[in-house]
Amino acid sequence: MTKQSRHPRAQQFASDNYAGICPEALDAMLKANSGSEPAYGEDIWTTHAADSFRTVFETDCEVFFAFNGTAANSLALAALCQSYHSVICSSSAHVITDECGAPEFFSNGSKLLAIATESGKITPEAVRALVESRSDIHFPKPRAVTITQPTETGQLYSIAEIEALSAVCRDQGLKLHMDGARFANACAALGCTPAEMTWKAGVDVLCFGGTKNGMAVGEAILFFSPELAVDFDYRCKQAGQLASKMRFLSAPWVGMLESGAWLKHAAHANACAVRLASRIKDAPGVSFAFPVEANSVFLNAPESVLAGLAARGWKFYTFIGGAARFMFAWDADPARVDELAEDIVELCSSAQ
Ligand SMILES: *Cc1c(COP(=O)(O)O)cnc(C)c1O
Repeated sequence: MTKQSRHPRAQQFASDNYAGICPEALDAMLKANSGSEPAYGEDIWTTHAADSFRTVFETDCEVFFAFNGTAANSLALAALCQSYHSVICSSSAHVITDECGAPEFFSNGSKLLAIATESGKITPEAVRALVESRSDIHFPKPRAVTITQPTETGQLYSIAEIEALSAVCRDQGLKLHMDGARFANACAALGCTPAEMTWKAGVDVLCFGGTKNGMAVGEAILFFSPELAVDFDYRCKQAGQLASKMRFLSAPWVGMLESGAWLKHAAHANACAVRLASRIKDAPGVSFAFPVEANSVFLNAPESVLAGLAARGWKFYTFIGGAARFMFAWDADPARVDELAEDIVELCSSAQ
């Protein structure tokens, strides 16, 4: 019997959403769970969380809370667009591949225009070419660009790349949205501040993922220009995203941001990806479908190796990026990462 089948609940790395709640987020939820507090965001925790964001981002941004990333992205994009507008994204962007049409639905039809890319990163040249390809009345007018940082396959935009994209956006009258479902991982990997990654580089709206960072649930939407946030609270309410007991959505952010856990956990997750990659990189037949830059490893290996991993109880997805994806979260146990690495190396060697 293999180790994994003896321990059917052993840690898995199929998704960073397999992890539980990190202590800092849970602790804040427990602290918020005392006495009564005003509902619908009028509580002290929500005020405190929004202030924490303003401190961490070093700017007076408008902050909103949603239950998940699909809602955060969709509502943020809807706030930037009229129904006849379009949003430029990469062909592998979560907004177009994994949100079931929600961005189009919540914007009443703003069309997503995909730029084909392997890495998930789009370039200023491609954005410019797409915008300039049409200016007639028959084409949905480009109004926003959305980038995922890090991308769905774990690639990072450098600050210079974000600045170059935002320069084209300004030039073309487009707003720049960032899907930061793993924003913390990007900050940890690039070693830059949240401000440098966003408003200082020209990002107009950020969706900051709390769930994959270690919270039970919740994403924050940050508008760096207040005029873009006008009536956004109504948009959230209409979409079913206004939590009545808002304190439980907002308090975990206080715990994450004030303790620095948001960055610490992301750095740990990134380090686990590097740990796996470095232990398996020389195994025969192994290659990486994408450079390991954040908290994911996309493994290319012979079919027999992948089947062997599955037989040993390892869970992974192959529908994103076409390779076996391993994704690390705040709770990734380095010893368990090493078990995975050993199994990969062993299976690769015996497949020779
Ligand atoms: C996980 C994820 C989201 C959010 O997904 P939800 O399941 O709606 O919370 C958004 N963007 C990216 C790139 C993601 O990986």
